[in-house]
Amino acid sequence: MVIVMGLDAPRDDIEKVKEKVTLLECTPHEITGSSKLAIGITGPTNKLNEEDFQMLPSVQEVVRVTKKYKLVSRQMKVDDTIISIDNNVVGGEELFICAGPCSVESRDQILEIANQLKEIGVKFIRAGAFKPRSSPYSFQGLKEKGLEYLQEVKDKYGLKVVTEVLNTSTLPAVTEVADILQIGSRNMMNFTLLVEAGMTGKPVLLKRGMSATVEDLLLSAEYILAQDNYNVILCERGIRTFETSTRNTLDLNAIPVVKKHSHLPIIVDPSHGVGIWDKVPAMSMAAIAARADGLLLEVHQRPDEALSDGYQSLTPKQFEELLNKLKELAPVVGRKITL
Ligand code: PEP
Ligand code: MN
Repeated sequence: MVIVMGLDAPRDDIEKVKEKVTLLECTPHEITGSSKLAIGITGPTNKLNEEDFQMLPSVQEVVRVTKKYKLVSRQMKVDDTIISIDNNVVGGEELFICAGPCSVESRDQILEIANQLKEIGVKFIRAGAFKPRSSPYSFQGLKEKGLEYLQEVKDKYGLKVVTEVLNTSTLPAVTEVADILQIGSRNMMNFTLLVEAGMTGKPVLLKRGMSATVEDLLLSAEYILAQDNYNVILCERGIRTFETSTRNTLDLNAIPVVKKHSHLPIIVDPSHGVGIWDKVPAMSMAAIAARADGLLLEVHQRPDEALSDGYQSLTPKQFEELLNKLKELAPVVGRKITL
């Protein structure tokens, strides 16, 4: 349920609504939009009556949220969510571009690629220190050492870091370094991790599970928002289908579907989505044309030597060529890239 109030509603009236919600054993969430203030209600809302709230001062409207997800839904918040990270935004006019290798492989490797990406103008670097690999014999990441190197990248180049958190035990260490916590496809339904990541208050990049529906993705995001952490960036990264000519099937349908049902920003990871480097530029362009809020791209200085996902990684030169094309496309869909 959502209680709609005016932006000019007196604080006393807002508190009265919240008190009533708490008294009825539900949880109020204050959400300020551009023209209205909403009090989203979660918990056993089936016990609530619309009339109980309609009578309260400054209440304009009481709306039942019909979706299973509540805080994530557009019914709860009409305006697009724009996430600010220092001077950067996700979900605004400026497209969010995050690039980097799949993994932190060594100090030299990450510093070298960070330097090259910084030269190109990138503000957010991606790289995993903890890697979820299908085979237990594959490179599992440099773990804590990898985090140390990422900290060095931040200190030396001023880049913001997006890195994956695999479990709750390493969450505090990853949170120290990450500017955005990545929760990967395989962990999209690790509800304990979602709750604890939400509690850090850090922005979370939540990747769609490879066999998850869009509704599953939105329900997972709800776990994070329910901790009063609204800084969630959704990420379409391809799903499993019967098609075998690409690693995954990049489901660009997810973008308009998410935009209709949710106020959260959604970006696209075409690297994992197709799994083959030469298909990445076409799908990056398609994602932006379909109104994605940004891209997560794997870029490696020597893809043929990469310890993970080299085959889907662009070289810095290929990445720069793609960026130039994206810069031309962006204004067509009312966006910009000012790297
Ligand atoms: C990654 O970003 O390197 C990664 C492991 O992604 P996903 O969880 O989408 O497979
Ligand atoms: Mn990868």
